[in-house]
Amino acid sequence: MRKTFICGNWKLNHDLETTRATLREMIQKLPSSRDVEVGIAPVTTTLFAACEVAKGSRIHIAAQNVHHAEKGAYTGEVSCAHLRELGVTHVIIGHSERRQYFGETSGEVAQKTRAALDMGLVPIVCIGEQLEDREAGRTMAVIDEQLAPVLDVLHPPDVPTLVIAYEPVWAIGTGKTASAAQAQEVHAHIRAQVRSKFQEAAEQVRIQYGGSVKPSNAKELLAEPDVDGALVGGASLTADSFVGIIEAVS
Ligand code: PEP
Repeated sequence: MRKTFICGNWKLNHDLETTRATLREMIQKLPSSRDVEVGIAPVTTTLFAACEVAKGSRIHIAAQNVHHAEKGAYTGEVSCAHLRELGVTHVIIGHSERRQYFGETSGEVAQKTRAALDMGLVPIVCIGEQLEDREAGRTMAVIDEQLAPVLDVLHPPDVPTLVIAYEPVWAIGTGKTASAAQAQEVHAHIRAQVRSKFQEAAEQVRIQYGGSVKPSNAKELLAEPDVDGALVGGASLTADSFVGIIEAVS
């Protein structure tokens, strides 16, 4: 049985004060039942404070990016060990904004995924097609190209830890959501790809949907058999809308 996992991605939003206040409000308003796993990925400079506020609560703190190396001459980067020592437990890897604006490749995504797993962090690996890909009937080909390097660096015991976020780029921050059927079709394909390499362990991989998820559409999307959670941008920025999503799927 896969536990539903809802993770907020705050991107480049919320200063230190707002981070603390929003997390406190979320902790206070979240339903007490723990049937849904909950995470928030705040801005890197606020991770330490976020971990302090979230300690002992049901909110996992995730980073939005990481470097694959343990240490060395990588000015401006942060390693998995740095994240771990703060109390961070999850890390978003290969978000489409990192691929698009920072030139992150699927090979780098795979390296980061390996590094995260080796350091005991849960990688949330983002994959998804652009609108042109979908219109050209290339959705599954793009998914396969992005997923294959990640599957290549996995060992069988890593598979149940892995979280994959399917985020059609045309649905991120646009208000356009993939229909539940469109999401399910791609999620089932992703699981089939994992199954072809790791057999029944694929049943344990959680596949989140991301792209304009909000309290009003979360339940329908998560009712699909292969949609195991959501990666949420805009609607995770306030306690009321984020908690609304958790309540809708609990
Ligand atoms: C995201 O950034 O991963 C995302 C899905 O954003 P939004 O929910 O705002 O579309």
